[in-house]
Amino acid sequence: MEVKFYTSTREYNEKKAEFDNAVLGVMERGTFILGNEVTNFESAVKEFTGAKYAIGVASGTDALVMASDILGFKDGREVITSPFTFLASTSCIAKHRAKPVFVDIDEETFSIDANKIEEKITKDTAGIIPIHLFSQMGDMDKIMDISSRNNLRVLEDAAESFGMRYKGNGSEYKHAGTIGDLGVFSFFPTKTLGAYGDAGMIVTNDENLARITKMYRVHGASRKYHYDFIGYNSRLDSMQAAILQVKIKYINEAIQKRDQIAKLYIDRLQDCEFIKIPKISGNQKSVYYVFNVLAERRDELSEYLKSNEIGTSIYYPIPLHLQKCFEYLGYKKGDFPVAERTADNIIALPIYPEITVEEVEFVCETIRKFYKK
Ligand SMILES: *Cc1c(COP(=O)(O)O)cnc(C)c1O
Repeated sequence: MEVKFYTSTREYNEKKAEFDNAVLGVMERGTFILGNEVTNFESAVKEFTGAKYAIGVASGTDALVMASDILGFKDGREVITSPFTFLASTSCIAKHRAKPVFVDIDEETFSIDANKIEEKITKDTAGIIPIHLFSQMGDMDKIMDISSRNNLRVLEDAAESFGMRYKGNGSEYKHAGTIGDLGVFSFFPTKTLGAYGDAGMIVTNDENLARITKMYRVHGASRKYHYDFIGYNSRLDSMQAAILQVKIKYINEAIQKRDQIAKLYIDRLQDCEFIKIPKISGNQKSVYYVFNVLAERRDELSEYLKSNEIGTSIYYPIPLHLQKCFEYLGYKKGDFPVAERTADNIIALPIYPEITVEEVEFVCETIRKFYKK
């Protein structure tokens, strides 16, 4: 049985008429740049996440670069973040010549270890970028406390965490991306809320930051041909917004299905002694964007699954402090042992709302077969 790591075509076939009408509608109306489709989708995201402001941009990466620029992560300032993430979480710091300062991750959440942040704060520190990966958020209570005591800005890389909510010691659940100064979503096709191409968004509760962000996506213009800043040309595409508007209608259902699949994986794999299943840590509501396990003989397992036509993925095989592009920061192997160990053992199994129970059972059986060999 072939089990794809990810596929968009099942969803498209299920809702073909809706997607087709959404895209055709954009062409019929001719509202290609920042039309009603974008505004309507921004409203839907505001309603879903509770963010006061939502600004659609071209990708999650652009959102991070723009947000870093707006929050002053540039020109020699330092920004504290985790090395265990996708490149864009750190390249956005380096892009405007700020200095990424890495802190190791927490073993359970894979997020930055908040207990190790304060020792890295200097007079040059401008902010923190926490990244909520895979299925859960980091320790936002601690991160927000440290940032307010030290006057730092917080940019949440919520690219993977659409729909995740955090309560911590607070009185209510808050959506990923809405806790820091600015939050960033990616709608890259594989993400929990994925477009049919590149798309991203910046959310905030701060009116002034929202006003500046809106200008930044249109070259820094306050009104047409009046440029207050040197901004970007980075707008959420109307076609993608139309597709995303269809998908956000079903987002709760999609999250629920991901949850059921994760539960099935946990049930079938929890007694396998060679596999460690991550636990959700703290007072929060998870969303299984990715279902990861820590596996013994990971590379062999991955090859075995591949030979059985099961797709897997490794997020992330090389922590950023060991990447060539960040050599100039002077880090070396051994600096962040938890991140390095995790990178060596982690493997992501197929999860998407349309995957079948039979497929998940087959993946689990094949994993068990591998370890019995
Ligand atoms: C996907 C992702 C991004 C980048 O988003 P794009 O839309 O692909 O540019 C940034 N950070 C993290 C953690 C991601 O997973």
